[in-house]
Amino acid sequence: MGATDLHIVPQRRSSLIQVRINQRLYPLEEVPLIYSERLISHFKFLAAMDIGEKRKPQNGAIHHYLPVNGNVHLRLSTLPSAYNEALAIRILPQEDNTHYTNLSIFPNVLEQVYSLLLRPQGLLLFAGPTGSGKTTLMYSLLKETQLYKKRQVITLEDPIEKKMDTVLQIEINEPAGVTYLEGFKSILRHDPDVIMIGEIRDEATAQLAIRASLTGHLVLSTLHAKNTIGCLYRLNEFGIHIEDLRQTLLGIVSQRLYELKCPHCGNACSLFCMMRRQQRRMGVYELLNGQLLQNVMNMIQAKKPITVSFPKLDDYFHRAVAMDYISAPFSDTSTEHGYEKT
Ligand SMILES: [Zn+2]
Repeated sequence: MGATDLHIVPQRRSSLIQVRINQRLYPLEEVPLIYSERLISHFKFLAAMDIGEKRKPQNGAIHHYLPVNGNVHLRLSTLPSAYNEALAIRILPQEDNTHYTNLSIFPNVLEQVYSLLLRPQGLLLFAGPTGSGKTTLMYSLLKETQLYKKRQVITLEDPIEKKMDTVLQIEINEPAGVTYLEGFKSILRHDPDVIMIGEIRDEATAQLAIRASLTGHLVLSTLHAKNTIGCLYRLNEFGIHIEDLRQTLLGIVSQRLYELKCPHCGNACSLFCMMRRQQRRMGVYELLNGQLLQNVMNMIQAKKPITVSFPKLDDYFHRAVAMDYISAPFSDTSTEHGYEKT
């Protein structure tokens, strides 16, 4: 069902088993207390937690293989409650085989992004708020390039969200000295073709990303910016010269994730529908590349207002609403869904 959490909640006479799907809670079933106690004990045993201890909160983890989803990582936490022990399980899928064209309501934008990934060197940036699916998109694009073009791909992430077979993944570990900057330097000594850096957070990392993409590497990274043009201003704040970007920047992608309108239920789907509708969220993507990107950079360099016109997140959003893929928000949230018209 694409649930992110599963809860076993003890009540006076029975226990409630519920799941969280797209932020909402759905009750699955009620089971007798004796049954839920056994269930919780069983999970605690699997997660190497102390079965005898029921009065203190405990944490544990299980790796599990599901025939449909592949490997999943389960993070367990117990909480002693008034009636009995409660258990919450966070479900973290480790494998996501969604092809990049299935991530977007308008897949042709991602086809263009993919073509940039075939370049031997340069910098490709992804902007968007947390939870807009930047990492999912980067994984899915990298996976696709790996299938047809064998290249040494090394990632630096905080934390590693999904494990990939053909990619060398390094996790940030600040106490051990693996920061974004130090990790990046180490990766460069490891003969990579493609480097994915979880996030460009500061000037030093930004400079290194530029230098790496000037010296024969393809660098992918994310940046905290509202949209593609915001990304350029952010790099400018980091002290990156437009001239350097002109030589390295292949493109900037900006994105938002939306819940798809259910053709059957209207606003709130039943659990029955949730179980059958696998893909419930999709993204819209804005890409700034090629001559348009050069023109925007010229305007920033000349400190002129940006007057270049290209399809933006807001345009795609309205198109998706018009095509009935997603619902328009009830209130006016023009800034929330991406783009302020200037
Ligand atoms: Zn539905």
